[in-house]
Amino acid sequence: MSFILWFTGLSGAGKSTLAQSVSKALRERGVTRLEVLDGDEVRTHISAGLGFSREDRRTNILRIGYVARLLARNGTVAITAAISPYTEDRDEVRAASTAPFVEVFAAASLDAVAERDVKGLYKKAFAGEITNFTGVSDPYEAPSKAEIVVDTGVETVAESTQKILRGLEALGLIAAPRATSEARP
Ligand code: ADP
Repeated sequence: MSFILWFTGLSGAGKSTLAQSVSKALRERGVTRLEVLDGDEVRTHISAGLGFSREDRRTNILRIGYVARLLARNGTVAITAAISPYTEDRDEVRAASTAPFVEVFAAASLDAVAERDVKGLYKKAFAGEITNFTGVSDPYEAPSKAEIVVDTGVETVAESTQKILRGLEALGLIAAPRATSEARP
């Protein structure tokens, strides 16, 4: 069954990493039709030219939602990994989707992502060199009704990946893996 797996979370919270690891795990479970719409990648293609104002962020999210919907309604699992900071925009995409919409909150704290600072952006944002930076000088509205929450500030990538797969199983969107011979006593 196809669905939209929609990651949301601060920059560096692990959205891209988990989109890739979940995608790999789903392929290993036989899901062949799957696309990842990564936030950074989308901004160089369908959202090229958009900035980080409230309006441009909204446009970016609605475009990602539109493409994800087209994929999902044609039997392809769509995994998105954009910050998507506004509840209103996420909920609009959710409401428009005919395929199941699964929101995954990558819930690392600002302290954790700033400490990690994978792309060196928080240092610049705190120094005022980047404006409108989510979590520092721009809002991030944490979801209150995400189907799956992963504590990416404390969990390992493997733990968060497992949690998401178990969440999808619990929602009936993927089958639980059959026990392999190695797993049997
Ligand atoms: P985002 O796409 O949210 O901006 P990235 O996936 O680019 O974030 O970066 C997240 C970083 O955090 C990576 O370096 C990743 O290895 C690390 N990390 C540590 N623990 C986790 C976890 N549980 N889930 C995802 N990423 C994690």
